[in-house]
Amino acid sequence: MNVCSTRDERLQVPLSRALVEGIAVDGGLYVPVRFPAQAARAVAGTATLDLLAQRLLAPFFEGDALAAMLPAIATEAFDFPAPLRPVGGGAERLSILELYHGPTAAFKDFGARFLAACLSRIPRSDQRVLTMLVATSGDTGGAVAAAFHERPGFRVVLLYPAGKVSPLQERQLTCWDGNVRSYAVRGNFDDCQRLAKEAFRDARLRETLRLSSANSINIGRLLPQITYFAAASLLIRAAEGNTANFVIPSGNLGQAVACVWARELGLPIGEIVLAHNANRTVPDFMADGRWRPRPSIATIASAMDVGDPSNIERLRFLYQDHTTMTARIRAVSIGDDAIRKSIQFEYRQSGLMLCPHSAAGAQAYRMLSDAERRDSHWVLVATAHPAKFREIVGPLVGREIAAPPALSRLLERPHTRNDIDASLDGLRERLLAA
Ligand SMILES: *Cc1c(COP(=O)(O)O)cnc(C)c1O
Repeated sequence: MNVCSTRDERLQVPLSRALVEGIAVDGGLYVPVRFPAQAARAVAGTATLDLLAQRLLAPFFEGDALAAMLPAIATEAFDFPAPLRPVGGGAERLSILELYHGPTAAFKDFGARFLAACLSRIPRSDQRVLTMLVATSGDTGGAVAAAFHERPGFRVVLLYPAGKVSPLQERQLTCWDGNVRSYAVRGNFDDCQRLAKEAFRDARLRETLRLSSANSINIGRLLPQITYFAAASLLIRAAEGNTANFVIPSGNLGQAVACVWARELGLPIGEIVLAHNANRTVPDFMADGRWRPRPSIATIASAMDVGDPSNIERLRFLYQDHTTMTARIRAVSIGDDAIRKSIQFEYRQSGLMLCPHSAAGAQAYRMLSDAERRDSHWVLVATAHPAKFREIVGPLVGREIAAPPALSRLLERPHTRNDIDASLDGLRERLLAA
């Protein structure tokens, strides 16, 4: 199957080309041309995530240069679990989907590792090293670095806002050697993103380097994420015969798109509620249909500090009009105070320890009507391990939070921080020097 641009359905390319290009030539985002509904039937009863990914994603790889390698790609990328656990303490059926058991303890490991496994198998005519230039608000950079570290033919350059990522996130961004470099940009995330965009357009850099992006505009990050929404919904269908509803902590809407695509593929998914932080662009759009992007606001759920989420374009392409979109997904905004209270409440209620992003999701769940909570099985998507944000979560729950083993191993590595100004000249010099 080909993929097409959100801005022109006739602009179609094979999947592997979309993975390399990142963004379509007309500036649109790549999306599947259709969602084969037989996919869901073909996967019922599939036990492991890697097998599920192989079967579910096979239609998208059909006819592509990577088709025969999908089993190897799925096995390589899905080598850690995404457990679905019941949350005790209340009468409702509530489960938590833990997406933080990968090397950098956030869900972005799934997408980054799958993309790396794909890109390293695509035959190349151009032998130059591929530079993955990534602007990150914290979690993407670490996941991409871990996924591409020591891969021949690749180099990773990370740009993150100095002083605006958690201490553990910074360690994950700065603990690499070899083919990974990271820069603390004097500015905010919007500055990092602007800098990356300027670099992609810069004539000097384009003639000298091969640049690519691993942000969630790349469809190779989103397709694998369909898998765990599918797995969770199939487990609930098998156990209870019902559809599953999801609450998704959201920023750039990559997770939202993956969940919606899973539902389009015929998986037993009911309601989808997006929990945003104080960056209200999406909830406001859902309310009145006017798209008003704005500069991002810093919150304690910093990986969701996005004021102009690019993946809205994929949702608008799928739903075409505002009425359809609001019938199919909802969005709420949760402020920092409510996030703090939610961390404390869920811990007291059931011993559940949540990162600030996941806690925004829990609060969105608590805001549903009693009837809605009672009548359906809800799944709370936990996007990062609470230890990544322990200086926020620890004091609220009154205890130390141990880092999971994968994270501890990263933290033992030596690290160095390099600060740069938010100007293209400085970045260009560094990109060309290495
Ligand atoms: C990236 C991230 C999010 C937001 O996900 P999107 O796909 O950008 O909406 C939420 N929580 C955590 C921990 C993240 O790293």
